[in-house]
Amino acid sequence: MTAKIISGREVAEHILENELSKKVEELKGKNIIPNLVVILVGEMKASASYVAQKEKFAAKAGIKSEVRRFNSEISENEILSEIDKINDDSLIHGVIVQLPLPDHISVAKVLNRIHPSKDVDGFTPNNVGKLFLGEDTLVSCTPKGIMQMLRISGTDLNGKNVTVIGRSNIVGKPVSILCQSENATVTMCHSRTKDLNHKLSDADVIIVAVGVPKFISGDQIPEGAVVIDVGIHNIDGKLCGDVDFDSAKEKASAITPVPGGVGPMTVCALIENTIIAAERINSAWEDSNFWPLASEANALSNWATGAKKDSN
Ligand code: NAP
Repeated sequence: MTAKIISGREVAEHILENELSKKVEELKGKNIIPNLVVILVGEMKASASYVAQKEKFAAKAGIKSEVRRFNSEISENEILSEIDKINDDSLIHGVIVQLPLPDHISVAKVLNRIHPSKDVDGFTPNNVGKLFLGEDTLVSCTPKGIMQMLRISGTDLNGKNVTVIGRSNIVGKPVSILCQSENATVTMCHSRTKDLNHKLSDADVIIVAVGVPKFISGDQIPEGAVVIDVGIHNIDGKLCGDVDFDSAKEKASAITPVPGGVGPMTVCALIENTIIAAERINSAWEDSNFWPLASEANALSNWATGAKKDSN
């Protein structure tokens, strides 16, 4: 069997041009321009290239995007007060902090400071909690992009066995929840899993987010499974995923390539989340003419991190 290639690049282009840009035009008709701010700290080449892709997709969809750049010496407090300013700015609808951050800045503290209504990466405890409870929320971008790819490739998850390898907060855990909400039976694997091959043997869908180049090969994949490769690695100037594409495509019925698979879908989901956030923030304004202040976002963040209530 030679697998059908699920091109994330093509699906993302289609969604951007045919669905998202139409929504943006409608919003512009109401004088709302979805506006995304990306916070970029330091000079990492990979981060700069991810950010450039986000700007490119934003331009394609017709939304506004701005990159706020800071050098790696910036203090944690300065980043937190930048986020407070963004939380209070009614013309900004979405904010993301490009990771990684320098070691002296707490990622949890920074992400938790983002107001949940502007958390277009879907990383705050509030949005993660809603996802867990099956409530409508801003879903984190990579899992959201994976679900869109599965839908568009015609993979019905109802009653299917899904094996997820990797249990990170940004990919493995949320995607397993989303698959369960589509009535799949999910097996979660991680570094302590015993007999991984057995866990893969009856999988209809395999989602690999391990962070190890070519970790899964064709001989571990049951004939006809759908394979979603989340990993991305630069090996001697050549990109590859967590799956050995050449051997896997001979066993899978459908597979995502690297590059051009999950990556573009992740960015597309970010743009969609920004548009959703703009719609919701605007209707909240219309309903109540009320916007929570930074102090309230701080209180929420302190609650989320279990810290003492902030006095300012
Ligand atoms: P992560 O935080 O590094 O977590 C890796 C997970 O893999 C952990 O749960 C770990 O288990 C598990 N693992 C490691 N070695 C294993 C082994 N030998 N057997 C089974 N499980 C093992 O990963 P992540 O942030 O989800 O990222 C995974 C990959 O996806 C990376 O290559 C990353 O660059 C890529 N990524 C791509 C996108 C995109 O848009 N394309 C987005 C996000 C991430 P333990 O929990 O037991 O340690």
